[in-house]
Amino acid sequence: MTQRLNRLKIATLLANPPLHQPTVVLGWVRTRRESKAGVAFVEVNDGSTFDNLQVVIPASWSGYAEIVPLLHTGTAVRVEGVLVPSEGGRQAVELQAGSVTVLGESDPLQYPIGKQKISYETLREYTHLRPRTNTFGAIARLRDVLAAEVHGFFRARGFRWVHTPVITGNDAEGAGKAFQVTTLDLEGIAASGRDSETGRSGKAPDHKDFFAKDFFGKAVSLTVSGQLEAEAYALSLGDVYTFGPTFRAENSHTSRHLAEFWMVEPEMAFADLEDDMELAEAFLKHLCRAALEQCPREMAFFKERVEPTVIERLEAILAAPFVRMTYTEAVEHLKASKETFEYPVEWGTDLQSEHERWLTEKYCKAPVILIDYPKDIKAFYMKVNDDGRTVRAMDVLVPHIGEIIGGSQREERVDVLQARMKEMGLDDHAIASLDWYLDLRRFGGAPHAGFGLGFERLVQFVSGMANIRDVIPFPRTPGRI
Ligand code: ATP
Ligand code: MN
Repeated sequence: MTQRLNRLKIATLLANPPLHQPTVVLGWVRTRRESKAGVAFVEVNDGSTFDNLQVVIPASWSGYAEIVPLLHTGTAVRVEGVLVPSEGGRQAVELQAGSVTVLGESDPLQYPIGKQKISYETLREYTHLRPRTNTFGAIARLRDVLAAEVHGFFRARGFRWVHTPVITGNDAEGAGKAFQVTTLDLEGIAASGRDSETGRSGKAPDHKDFFAKDFFGKAVSLTVSGQLEAEAYALSLGDVYTFGPTFRAENSHTSRHLAEFWMVEPEMAFADLEDDMELAEAFLKHLCRAALEQCPREMAFFKERVEPTVIERLEAILAAPFVRMTYTEAVEHLKASKETFEYPVEWGTDLQSEHERWLTEKYCKAPVILIDYPKDIKAFYMKVNDDGRTVRAMDVLVPHIGEIIGGSQREERVDVLQARMKEMGLDDHAIASLDWYLDLRRFGGAPHAGFGLGFERLVQFVSGMANIRDVIPFPRTPGRI
């Protein structure tokens, strides 16, 4: 007999209860309580939905004495029974058990996430078990819904999903430090001062020679962004997007940086910064609406247990247009404010998260799109404005997070782009590795624009979770994997 014969997931069964029908439920015990009359009430969760199913085991069941004492938190069970309307107030239906089988025991003295309340921080020690908790189960389902809606949003607009590489030979993309990927014998080099393959001394080897013997014949790294490759496909297919893992070797210990995170990067041919801003706003609104509509149970939980204003915040996003402002105006407002910031604000410096949050939370009380940043603090590929000092960049700032999206109109003039690469300090080697990128301008270059949304920052924003490490299943941060 199959395990799953007559099995119903709890999500299905609660949505549309097949009363008085033989029903099988497979899941994990959350809690057990026994009444004076010797009836056991067991809350079972199978992960399909937030809510548990109450299983009632009557004292008359022949296996009661043997099985019920085993039903500790975390135990995997198979319950056969019939659904009946519940007499208790908390749930509409309950499963009147005919028999219960223990599929996997869980020792209450050993189970690390048993009864007592545990902090999110401690739960990070048990990333493999934390999805069994209400909070992390809810986050996982929210992430799934948002990811599906990323695809849904773009497909509805005729964007193609492009799979850009994880290993890249591009040098200096201007988006943070990259992790190097190598098969060179690092331990051997460290021990002998020489690489066993190249025989070269480990001391200041010539860069090109040294990596000629490496797996790809050159130094390569994990991608910090799929944008450059996405541009190649935008300038062929029109509208495209990437959605995949991204890696940054920054030593950031903040609540909004990870070393490995997922990024969504749309790229549109025949588009300018105005089009880019419209897309970003529609996209964020779509995702917030999806969370409210498709995850009402999870959102109610986040409001109750994580962040009381989280639902209002999403509704506010939907209700009003995003504020648009130039970087220069933002700096003026920041300087005129009475706030004391940890970092001073000067035109030409990058805004810190405290500045971004003041602008969106206090000054505008709405999401803000900041545009036209000083060219020296932005990447080489952003289109230079006529003033010669600023570029067509945009950052979308939201309450609670600060920057959630970074984007720009791309420089399509090949001479200006080359000059910018030099100006931003790319060496000849790096420029040569990007010659293909210049080709995109040499042959049918067209105005185009795009942005990057950090997927975890989105999940953080939507759920209200304080730390980005708690919205990705297995967080990677400096010193921790
Ligand atoms: P920040 O200034 O906040 O460090 P950034 O300017 O380096 O971000 P971009 O290169 O513009 O980021 O990347 C696009 C988006 O990717 C950001 O708006 C953000 O949502 C997300 N992002 C960037 N770095 C990280 C990170 N280390 N962890 C998680 N998300 C990130
Ligand atoms: Mn940015």
